[in-house]
Amino acid sequence: MIVMKFGGTSVESAAAIERVAGIVRARLARRPVVVVSAMGKTTNRLLSIANRAVQGKRDEALGELMALRDFHLRESAMERTVDEHFQELGELTRGLAILGELTPRSIDAISSFGERLSSLIVTNHFQKLGMKTRHVDSRKVIITDDRHSQAAPLFELTYEKLAATIPPLAHDSVVVMGGFIGSTQSGVASTLGRGGSDYTASIVGAGVGAEEIQIWTDVDGMLTADPTIFAGGHRVRRCSFEEAAELAYFGAKVLHPATVLPAVEKNIPVLILNSRRPEGEGTRIVANAVHSTNVAKSIACKKNVTLVNITSSRMLMAHGFLHRIFEVFDRCSVPVDMLATSEVSVSLTLDRTEKIAEIRAELQSFAEVTVEDNQAIICLVGENIRYTPGVAARAFSALGDINIRMISQGASKLNIGLVVAEDDLKRATEALHNEFFSELDTEVFA
Ligand code: ASP
Ligand code: MG
Repeated sequence: MIVMKFGGTSVESAAAIERVAGIVRARLARRPVVVVSAMGKTTNRLLSIANRAVQGKRDEALGELMALRDFHLRESAMERTVDEHFQELGELTRGLAILGELTPRSIDAISSFGERLSSLIVTNHFQKLGMKTRHVDSRKVIITDDRHSQAAPLFELTYEKLAATIPPLAHDSVVVMGGFIGSTQSGVASTLGRGGSDYTASIVGAGVGAEEIQIWTDVDGMLTADPTIFAGGHRVRRCSFEEAAELAYFGAKVLHPATVLPAVEKNIPVLILNSRRPEGEGTRIVANAVHSTNVAKSIACKKNVTLVNITSSRMLMAHGFLHRIFEVFDRCSVPVDMLATSEVSVSLTLDRTEKIAEIRAELQSFAEVTVEDNQAIICLVGENIRYTPGVAARAFSALGDINIRMISQGASKLNIGLVVAEDDLKRATEALHNEFFSELDTEVFA
């Protein structure tokens, strides 16, 4: 068995679904289990409908809902199914308008409809195209805790259900199921967090013991640099799970960071493939380290980062400084991304700043604080970084006159992170790419 996951763009229309069918058909012998996202921008649209409803803009919300219904009707020709689902959505929307309050649980109730519909629609298209196809309702097999909107799967239960349900069907049919959604043990719809369909694919792959998990996207695979920042990147043919997780965490948009975990545990390779060029080789992510003569596999980056510098000379030789700092971030539930410390100062980066005024005020009660917006993290990722001396020195000299605001090497020693002003990001990425990728190990890069 293989798991094939297709994102929102890949199933955004009847024509797109037909292309997906072609890709799946060419792999029937490998017994595909297909995981799909909601069609196009459906999840965003459902969330916007919910928000409007609770803001008292009931009619606007219902209008948007009608437009979304028409879109699904047009691309599916499944009148009854679409009508039934939108009837329920209409009731939910009216209910939200009356309550005027949006809870994580009701967000899940609404946003789950995207994948509930898309999976039924894709199943129907496949059947019409002559493929024997069975639909599996993800809510019956992906069982989660009740932290709605960010639910975590209950792995033992989920794997048990997947193993009992999927293989007997996949034996002679394509199985289609929705990503992103599941249900709690009491049967209430839940979701795994935005972008969660990749995670579903990985969970399903682990649960059925798939030989491979394929994530079909609209890029050729992972690249040596973020293509929106630097156009001259090369495809990474192979990398390790650890590298992929690090890259995903630091902003490589091709993969959800949590995605790889279930696959890692069961040692199942994950492939990133391009549905517009299905014959391409993509990127293969594997459990073991992938050695190459290039010290780095890729340069990831993250924009819109805020740098916080905290200094206290009174804290010289005093203990408890870090403790007090982290207490503040903990109290405000704001995660810290990168961190560097000296005896009397701490620099850290945040990518959520809605509580920055509160954080600053609390920190100022015991330290001096400066906050700088519009910073960016550039992260050099590669297994070999931990075995190769002088990588930081090479990065520094490549960056020349670009001001480096902070540097940190994680305990994994898999990456070196640098903070620069956002205005310098493009120049810095280019310089690092020249330094680390002008000669390529063709075993590992294309
Ligand atoms: N449809 C969900 C989202 O937009 C899940 C996914 O596409 O992966 O977040
Ligand atoms: Mg996605």
